Amino acid sequence: MKCPTCHTHSLQIVSLDTGLIARQCSQCFGHWISSENYWEWLDYREQQQQQQRSHLTQPTHDASNMLSISDRLLPVVDNATANFCADCARLMTKAKVGRGLSFYLDRCSHCHGVWLDQNEWENLKQLELHHQIHYMFSSAWQFSVRQEKVARSDRARTKIPQKTPA
Ligand SMILES: [Zn+2]
Ligand SMILES: [Zn+2]
Repeated sequence: MKCPTCHTHSLQIVSLDTGLIARQCSQCFGHWISSENYWEWLDYREQQQQQQRSHLTQPTHDASNMLSISDRLLPVVDNATANFCADCARLMTKAKVGRGLSFYLDRCSHCHGVWLDQNEWENLKQLELHHQIHYMFSSAWQFSVRQEKVARSDRARTKIPQKTPA
């Protein structure tokens, strides 16, 4: 299996998260997650959370939550090209993540495998969006991303200082 963005390097199996098998490119450090591995991990994650809820642990105060979002995010160089699926070679579609993140994810519309450029997974995880990748390609999610953009440009417009008459 070759990397869908740099095309030359083969992908190596890595553990991206507890219970999540992915494939990583040793050249660009992007990650490929097959839909099978992703859904297996979501099931596993759901089971883990149910066990935690039944133990009723005290919430821990995580110091990383005190930092602002931009302090917690890693730099992302988002690929801007049209890429082909690492698994079935079909053209992948892009979806904008939104929620304060400016990059796009690539997904194969046939086998639903997902490609993440370097640090995209880490940033999704920081914002607790890493278990919602399948929603990002829905029209409802993309509609909310467009709404966010409209709200932001409205706010920017009201911040423009009024010109004082000469
Ligand atoms: Zn690569
Ligand atoms: Zn595919």
